[in-house]
Amino acid sequence: MLYTDLNKAIDVGSSAHLIEFGPFKALVDCGMHPKKLGFDALPDLSKIPDDSLDFIAITHAHLDHCGALPVLIRRQNSARVLVSEDSRELMFKMLRNSRSVMVRQRQEKDIKEYPLFDNSQLDKIAQQLTPMAFNRERVFELNGSRVSITFTPSGHIPGAASITFEYNKKKYMFSGDISFHDTNLLKGAKPTDDTVDILVVETTRGAREKRVFEDHPSEEERLIGEIARVIEDGGNVLIPSFALGRMQEVLLIIAKGKERKAIPAQTPVFIGGLAVDIAEHLIKLSKTSAYVNFSKKTLESAHVLREKMEPGKDFDEKGIYVLGSGMMVENTPAYVAASCVMGSSANAIFLVGYCDPETPAAKLLKTHTGDDFAFRDLFYIGQVNCRVDKFDLTSHADREEILDFILRKDPRCVVLTHGSEESRQWFMYEILDRLPNTNVVIPEPLIPIEL
Ligand SMILES: [Zn+2]
Ligand SMILES: [Zn+2]
Repeated sequence: MLYTDLNKAIDVGSSAHLIEFGPFKALVDCGMHPKKLGFDALPDLSKIPDDSLDFIAITHAHLDHCGALPVLIRRQNSARVLVSEDSRELMFKMLRNSRSVMVRQRQEKDIKEYPLFDNSQLDKIAQQLTPMAFNRERVFELNGSRVSITFTPSGHIPGAASITFEYNKKKYMFSGDISFHDTNLLKGAKPTDDTVDILVVETTRGAREKRVFEDHPSEEERLIGEIARVIEDGGNVLIPSFALGRMQEVLLIIAKGKERKAIPAQTPVFIGGLAVDIAEHLIKLSKTSAYVNFSKKTLESAHVLREKMEPGKDFDEKGIYVLGSGMMVENTPAYVAASCVMGSSANAIFLVGYCDPETPAAKLLKTHTGDDFAFRDLFYIGQVNCRVDKFDLTSHADREEILDFILRKDPRCVVLTHGSEESRQWFMYEILDRLPNTNVVIPEPLIPIEL
């Protein structure tokens, strides 16, 4: 197989793997870099000639895996777009939202090329789409050659898949973002024991030692306890959360806390924006998917935030505010809400996901009580008097769990992707130690390698 990593650097970046085997040419994922803007955020799509792809297979609906698909689809008229049945709607919701954000950023940041696509590209994706049921192998033929493709649930967010291509009795597996733990919202991946020839694997948490905190349930317990403490003391809790998956998981945890009477049942919970739309879709999905669990009752226990937020002015109504984005990116509801709750020592901001070091959430985590905090985009400087804490509710497997997964799959070749250089190095040495006959590859961006 000829493999090219089209992400432009060795980082988490924009997932896009070009593969060629026999007569087939496919791209696995077509993401946008979350920290870059404009054309810079795209993977190097110039390496893909017009109308050359047979398949574009998307692992999940996070934009770093599917955000650039509408740009690519313009030039790929015969490619089938493969996406899991559970991801299909979520992907379109994320892409539509991404377009609205670009329209806004065009004005705010004067990015001339935004938006990078319009609705006709989304229609084109829909026309070329082949939804894939989980765990059901599908065979495709081209010039007398056959490839079978299987999507298996990867436990990362609703709809997320690992994708396996089988060609000439060899299996090439792409883990996608993967998690093996069941959460309240989603069942974890349950990998099978069959081995693969080539494994392309994510390494997001490779630079993190085994969890400093305990496992998922106890982080969940700690979150319930800390929310209860703030509410009892008459404060507000802000939980910045990613709209797809994390926010619904947080709502389920709060509902559990209320059911157990740890959190007072009458405590109002406020949500907003894209998360409500996604939550409504997940209620529908729960009825057809064996992996997702989200009920109408849980959504109805929350209110859509109506109060107009003013920088620095605390919320009138005491409650729990679960707002996007998870990293408190500038100009998102969570960013403005942080300026509202930060000033009072009765309040708390609880972060529940990965925070890139450059984002406001990560900067906030480094502050001490009484520090000033500049909200540059709001022309406001607040003082950090509230509590700030972090809870590890990750939707990525630990590095030890991924290593076990690699050992179980016993591949002839492992390609380490979607992680920092340090993360990939850790995996490389561990694998070389344990699977001395396995070829371990840290792909050089944009350089084709014969695997
Ligand atoms: Zn993801
Ligand atoms: Zn990812």
